[in-house]
Amino acid sequence: MAKETADVVVIGAGPAGSVSAYMLAKQGHKVVLLEKERDPRFHIGESLLPYMMGLFERIGLRDVVASQDYVPKFGGEFIDPTEKKFFEGVFRADFTKQGTGRHDNAFQVERARFDRLLAEQAAAAGARTVFGANVGELLMEGDRMVGVRYEHDGEQHEVRSSYVIDASGRHGKIANRFGLRKTLEKLRMVAVFRHYSGLDESNNLGIEGDIQVGAHDDGWVWAIPLSKDAISVGTVMPRDVLRASTPEQRFEEHVARIPRIVSRLKGTTPTMDLKVETDYCYHTDTVTGPGWLMVGDAGCFGDPMFSGGVLVASSTAVRAAETLGELLADPTQEERLLERYSNYFKTGYDTYIRLIHAYYDGELVAMAADAARSTDRDTLERYLVRLIGGDFWSEHNSVAMEMRRRKEWDTFEPFTRVYGCPAYPHLDEVDRKERSESRVLRVTAGR
Ligand SMILES: Cc1cc2nc3c(=O)[nH]c(=O)nc-3n(C[C@H](O)[C@H](O)[C@H](O)COP(=O)(O)OP(=O)(O)OC[C@H]3O[C@@H](n4cnc5c(N)ncnc54)[C@H](O)[C@@H]3O)c2cc1C
Repeated sequence: MAKETADVVVIGAGPAGSVSAYMLAKQGHKVVLLEKERDPRFHIGESLLPYMMGLFERIGLRDVVASQDYVPKFGGEFIDPTEKKFFEGVFRADFTKQGTGRHDNAFQVERARFDRLLAEQAAAAGARTVFGANVGELLMEGDRMVGVRYEHDGEQHEVRSSYVIDASGRHGKIANRFGLRKTLEKLRMVAVFRHYSGLDESNNLGIEGDIQVGAHDDGWVWAIPLSKDAISVGTVMPRDVLRASTPEQRFEEHVARIPRIVSRLKGTTPTMDLKVETDYCYHTDTVTGPGWLMVGDAGCFGDPMFSGGVLVASSTAVRAAETLGELLADPTQEERLLERYSNYFKTGYDTYIRLIHAYYDGELVAMAADAARSTDRDTLERYLVRLIGGDFWSEHNSVAMEMRRRKEWDTFEPFTRVYGCPAYPHLDEVDRKERSESRVLRVTAGR
C-alpha cells in the first residue's frame, strides 16, 4: 500500500473541498485533495449568489471566475400569483439594491466546469489533487482521526494527516461513519430537473440572466440560464406529491403552471433525461471532532430555494482553512478553535435555512409586501435583498435578526452564534452604524 503524510487531507473536490484545499495550500500547508469521481462529473447547484463574488475577491479567485464567460446574474425573479397587490405577482430581488460596497452580480454556472476550475486553483496553489480517489476507511487512533485510506486505479493508498476535512457533500463520509446525520423533517423536498438547449432570451419576460423561481400550490419551479444557449429547469415538491405520480408527469404539470417560465422555454429542446434528487434536507449537531471537521453539504443542507448551497459551502470552507491554519500553528487550542468553527458553521446554515422556512411558511412574501408599503421601503428592501444575496453571517441585517427570533425555524440544538461576514468583513463597522441609524423593523405583520 502506498503511504504518505500531509498536514490536511480533504475528502471531496466540490466547491467546499477545493476552496478549503486552495486556502490551506496558499498558507503553505501540505494538503492532499481526494475526489472519487473522474472529471468531469455532473452536479446540481448552478445558480450562485452575489456574496460569492465578495468571497472570491477576498480569497483571490474573483478574476479567474469572472474570466470564464459564465452567465452574469443581476437578480432573482420570484413569481408568486398569491401576491397581486404589491408586485403584480412578481417580486424581483435586484442586486443593485443591496447597498454600499457589495457586488451587484453573481454567475450561473455549469457545475462540471466550475468545480473543475476550483480544483485546478487548489492544485495550482500546491494541493496534491487526485481524481478517481474513493475514500473508504477513516483512520482512527483512539477517538482521534489521523488520516484516510482511499482506492485509486485498483490500488489502496493511505494518507496520515494532522487533520481531515470532510467535504464529501451529501455522501457525508464522517456523518455516516458516526451516525450523526438528522433529517430536516419540516423540509424533505425532492427535485426533478433537466437542461434544455436553444434558449432565446428574447422570450424572457423578465431580465436577461436572472434566475426565475415560480411558486404554485405544490411547490416551485426554477429556471436558470447556463449559457447563451442553455437553461436548467427544475421542479421542487414535497415527497408525497411526487409519489402520487411520475417524475415526467409532475415535471410537465408544474412547469406548465408558471407561464413566465413557459415563455422563456419557447423553442428549446431537452438535452438530457430528467434527473431526480432526494434526501438533501439534513443537518448534524456535531460538525467537528478530534482531528476532523466538516465543511459544506457534508454537514448540512436545507433546500435549493435561494441558491445558497455553494456560498455556505465555500464560506465554511474558508473558515475551516483559517481555523486549521491557526490550529496547525498552535495545536493546544484545538478544543476552543473547533468549537468556534462549529458555531460559525451553524450560524450561517441556520440563517440560510430560516430564509427557506420563511418562504415555505408564506412569510417572505408578507415581508416583501411590508417593505413595499412601508414609508421606509428602501431600508427594508435593502436588508431583504442583501439577505437573499447571501448575508447569512451578519448581525447587522435587521431581517435576518428578526428571523433568528423564530423558535419554530431553529435547525440546530441551542448554540452560541458566531457572526462575521465571510464576503465583506471590512464592511462590519459600516453595517453596524447603518443599522443603528435605521428604525427597528418589525418584519412580520402584527408581531
Ligand atoms: C436540487 C438542488 C438544486 C440546487 N441548486 C443550487 C443552486 O442553484 N445554487 C447553489 O449554490 N446550490 C444549489 N444546490 C446546493 C449545492 O448543490 C450544494 O450545496 C453544493 O454543491 C455543496 O458543495 P460541497 O462542496 O459541499 O459538496 P458537493 O458539491 O456535493 O461535493 C462533494 C464531492 O465529494 C465527493 N465525494 C463524496 N464521497 C467521496 C469519497 N468517499 N471520496 C472522495 N470523494 C468523495 C463527491 O463526488 C463530490 O464531488 C442545489 C442542491 C439541490 C439538491
